[in-house]
Amino acid sequence: MSYWLQVVVAVPAHSSIAGPLTYKSELPLTVGSLVRVPLGKREVLGVVWEILPDSGALLEMQTRHVAGVLEGLPPLSATWRKLVQFTAGYYQRSLGEVALAALPPQLRDLSSVQLARRLKRPVADTSHTPTTTNLIALSQEQTLAIAQFDADSRPALLFGATGSGKTEVYLRAAARVLEQDPTAQVLVMVPEINLTPQLQSRFEERFAHLGKERVVALHSGLTPAQRLKSWLAAHAGHARLVLGTRMAVFASMPNLRLLVVDEEHDPSYKQQEGARYSARDLAVYRAKIETEDTTHDHGPCRVLLGSATPSLESWQATLAGRYQRLTMSERVAANDGERGSLPTVRRVDMNHQPKHSVIAPPLLDAIAQRVARGEQSLIFLNRRGYAPVLACHDCGWKSECPHCSAYRVFHKIDRTLRCHHCGFTERVPRACPACGNIDIAPVGRGTERLEEHLAELLAGVKRPDGEPPRIARIDADTTRLKGALESQLASVHAGEVDVLVGTQMIAKGHDFRHITLVAAINPDGALFSSDFRAPERLFSLLMQAGGRAGRDARHSGVSEMWVQTFHPTHPLFEALKKHDYPGFAAQQLAEREAAGMSPFGFSALVRAEARAQDVAQGFLNAAAAQAEAQQLTGHGQVTAYPAVPMTIQRVANIERAQMLVESPSRAALQRFLAAWQPTLFETRQQAEFKSLIRWAIDVDPIAI
Ligand code: ADP
Ligand code: ZN
Ligand code: ZN
Repeated sequence: MSYWLQVVVAVPAHSSIAGPLTYKSELPLTVGSLVRVPLGKREVLGVVWEILPDSGALLEMQTRHVAGVLEGLPPLSATWRKLVQFTAGYYQRSLGEVALAALPPQLRDLSSVQLARRLKRPVADTSHTPTTTNLIALSQEQTLAIAQFDADSRPALLFGATGSGKTEVYLRAAARVLEQDPTAQVLVMVPEINLTPQLQSRFEERFAHLGKERVVALHSGLTPAQRLKSWLAAHAGHARLVLGTRMAVFASMPNLRLLVVDEEHDPSYKQQEGARYSARDLAVYRAKIETEDTTHDHGPCRVLLGSATPSLESWQATLAGRYQRLTMSERVAANDGERGSLPTVRRVDMNHQPKHSVIAPPLLDAIAQRVARGEQSLIFLNRRGYAPVLACHDCGWKSECPHCSAYRVFHKIDRTLRCHHCGFTERVPRACPACGNIDIAPVGRGTERLEEHLAELLAGVKRPDGEPPRIARIDADTTRLKGALESQLASVHAGEVDVLVGTQMIAKGHDFRHITLVAAINPDGALFSSDFRAPERLFSLLMQAGGRAGRDARHSGVSEMWVQTFHPTHPLFEALKKHDYPGFAAQQLAEREAAGMSPFGFSALVRAEARAQDVAQGFLNAAAAQAEAQQLTGHGQVTAYPAVPMTIQRVANIERAQMLVESPSRAALQRFLAAWQPTLFETRQQAEFKSLIRWAIDVDPIAI
């Protein structure tokens, strides 16, 4: 007897076959099974999506046979398939692309024999050893937050100041779930695991008593073999806790009962290529469908988001009552009962400082005092390299990238000019390439130059032991090698660094204990950005950075956050001074509501790339005109704006354009995009747009 199946396979994003394909099988297969099927001349991995009822039409159809089944693997669950289906629909991608991207790549390449070997590996012992960790007593706020979380089934937003002990709340919530149900699984997501090796060990230690290999990591830094191993452990239900980055939201976890999203505001939860999904939003959706799942008996699946500076979307959801809010406004008390306080914010009005000063005299003074007292300072500048531009003062030549509409950055350490967009690198010319003048000079300042400058400025200052200050830098350049970041962070923790210079990499998450001063050197750019989310990102970055100071209560009385600005009275800095996130959020939300922007309006960007800008724009405008003609935009419910060049218009010789599509209704926008997709495909086929390289839709974009 034959069976006909719909199988989802990965097909190129813009191929004409987007839906599942029909195959024949001699064996009855379960929906969700992983199979190998022929596709053209190749054999590819697929997921059985549907079993077709017998019909005469099928008998007549020329269908190929399923080549094999990945034996020993339980089928993917109904909720997993529903999550994938939703993601594909909502983010306007093909089902096959989303489904296969959600599986570990190595699964595609394994033979049956290899897979069998992986699955046969001796399963780690399942015996529970008693809890050995001495649990710290929870603060009042932590106790209350957990009680509230238990009492209310809505998605929860833990609004907790930096150092208020959010991680401890995640650990307790996870422990609760894992104890109550011996099969329950928990997913904890973090923005970037490499930045927080501390966090991983905290989870591993806390749950060591569950037995070996019950806590697994899932992120792109793993080798393909490690990733497959973690995935299989989660899929088999063996792993009780998965700690991962955004990709982990798709982990197959048959008994998922709790999802935690740490630093939920972090932009890295948004995938920036392929299906541009928001892992935070999908976590909330997944908790809902896991709860509603009726295929077996289980408790609800909860979701807990946490941040000191929540995304305005999540904050608005608490104001509207869709999410519950758990507040922890105070830092936890250290062992001696002393409570750490948030740093005092000092704004330096750069209008009243000596011209061209990079570090204003009062700030330099404050840093020098820290050095003399043996305390650490953290100086933050969101621009790496030595100088963003190299220029000739004679003829006006600048270090433009020949392939991008951007300047190449001067890196002094290896005397190169590097493009941060396409990677094009050349040695610094001896003389101006345009006029031969040998007097070419760096303009502006990156972390590398700031580090050098600070060494000069602090040359006369002595540490308590009489030695000169030790200055270090952490950014993408110093941490390129594997393990470099870990060892650099370790030396900061060990107190081997007095002044740490770095990019936003050092502003996030780290639990530095000896930092008493944090300074933002030049944060003004974001105040007047064309991207409406820039202030939100700046505020959160500065709050995070400030959160690194005074985490040890012994110091926090004197800890300070310095901001150098030409706009000291800007409302953003006023709110920062008061550590007033709710005030800042209220002001931003009012502006966004007036302008119909997220979270009060919904948007998508369609981006197009071509060798020529007019082809990219022309394609978008033609597709939009077609939508208008077909009356897809409804009765003015959806607005498609004319295409414009992207901020960095050309990267690696490719011209980029984008079109903004907006609607006050999420549903209307979704209907429009779904109806518009075929038009975009058709427009692409027109002769004049043959040279288009690619186009893609970004739903709920995080940067405009
Ligand atoms: P957050 O994530 O909110 O910034 P953490 O969870 O990292 O804060 O906690 C900050 C520090 O306080 C950590 O070193 C943590 O071990 C400690 N801590 C957390 N809860 C308590 C508590 N109840 N009592 C004492 N120390 C605590
Ligand atoms: Zn010149
Ligand atoms: Zn370039």
